[in-house]
Amino acid sequence: MGQTLLQKVWDAHTVRRLPTGQTQLFIGLHLVHEVTSPQAFDMIKARGWRVAFPNRTFATVDHIVPTANRQRPFLDTMAEAMMSSLERNCAEHGIPLYNIGSEHQGIVHVIGPELGLTQPGMTIACGDSHTSTHGAFGAVAFGIGTSQVRDVLASQCLALEPLKVRRIEVTGRLAPGVYAKDVILEIIRRLGVKGGAGYAYEYAGPAVDRMTMDERMTICNMSIEGAARVGYVNPDETTFAFLKGRAFAPQGAQFEAATKYWRSRASDADARYDDRVVIDGDQLEPTVTWGINPGQSVGVSGALPDPRAASKDDRAGIEEALQFMGFDAGQRIAGTRIDVAFIGSCTNSRLSDLREAARVVRGHRVAPNVKALVVPGSEGVRQAAEREGLHEIFQQAGFEWRGAGCSMCLAMNPDRLERRQVCASSSNRNFKGRQGSPTGRTLLMSPAMVAAAAIAGEVVDVRTRLADVEVTA
Ligand code: SF4
Repeated sequence: MGQTLLQKVWDAHTVRRLPTGQTQLFIGLHLVHEVTSPQAFDMIKARGWRVAFPNRTFATVDHIVPTANRQRPFLDTMAEAMMSSLERNCAEHGIPLYNIGSEHQGIVHVIGPELGLTQPGMTIACGDSHTSTHGAFGAVAFGIGTSQVRDVLASQCLALEPLKVRRIEVTGRLAPGVYAKDVILEIIRRLGVKGGAGYAYEYAGPAVDRMTMDERMTICNMSIEGAARVGYVNPDETTFAFLKGRAFAPQGAQFEAATKYWRSRASDADARYDDRVVIDGDQLEPTVTWGINPGQSVGVSGALPDPRAASKDDRAGIEEALQFMGFDAGQRIAGTRIDVAFIGSCTNSRLSDLREAARVVRGHRVAPNVKALVVPGSEGVRQAAEREGLHEIFQQAGFEWRGAGCSMCLAMNPDRLERRQVCASSSNRNFKGRQGSPTGRTLLMSPAMVAAAAIAGEVVDVRTRLADVEVTA
């Protein structure tokens, strides 16, 4: 019987089985940022410990950094304290820090792959829920809490429960205007926001095989929104081509040797899975969330559910979401007025996301009364986009063009919703209060859909806009 990638990577990194039934797993790469690390560093300092593997630890600043005015000290004294703390801790322990001003500063899940730090067959940990992003490379990547950040700093190990594996095959071919974001929103809608508990999600099938690394990262990024502990795609030629020449990827003959090893990490053809799910990619359309969790979504041509027709288990959740969002049962999602359009976050702020959004925006103006901003995932993405002139397309349309960071994904910085504003967002969470206002409302969608909504001032089907692009090109 063959093995899955998860089993192979797990076994290769097992230090020992613990009496609790957990596995002590060695972590190949630890990514650190300013928000979840200060307390963890304090805890190891209080015990007189040092960081066990500073050469396997890399830091950046993303969550609290302002994306407009980055002058230090920050006006927000708590943000300034977090920044200073990370700077001090990195200097003290010899950890590389991609700080403001570095061409590699950016969202931790964007810069890891960009630098070639993220590689197939690795175990990766980071104090952020969306660490699953790195699974796109065939790594097993865990989002961890502050006490686990302490554990990894001190020992480079984590104590983890064993996982089952669910293989999710996406068949067919995505239509123009349908993106990886729509695929993962459909998966979460279908399997539920708790459906992945205890599982690793292995994404596969022809539609995933055809995806770029950026698209695979979008899918793996949101695994956690379906409660999967990790999500991954088996490494293939697309993975290797992405990594070739990156700063921390093996070079020359070592790259060829690494490729051979990486290929061997992929799940075997006869691997046994605990569950299998098939999603028909041909049937997908652009998808928009209407509720207060990422599983509450609908195709752009569809209507919101009626709680009276829902199962007893789902009824209360639908009622609560409709009430919070100010929507009526049966209402169509298209035509929902928006106040803010946000293109950014570790889900959808990479160069290909910005290119696709710019394609929709080119030659148009942002609707009056809509505040629109583009926040590249990293300074590397920002610079590459500027070399292509994408910033000019956005700025001419009326978008604000910002520096790299998490921005309005979770609003721990000056980018926030106000009052009851509705935001078309390319991020990953639509929880109550997520974007800074306790009553603000988030509609998750692909970056191209956000761009189309920004221009129209309301939710529209981006496929109609793309048709427009073809005609006028
Ligand atoms: S963009 Fe959002 S989800 Fe991603 S790392 Fe930043 S805060 Fe977390």
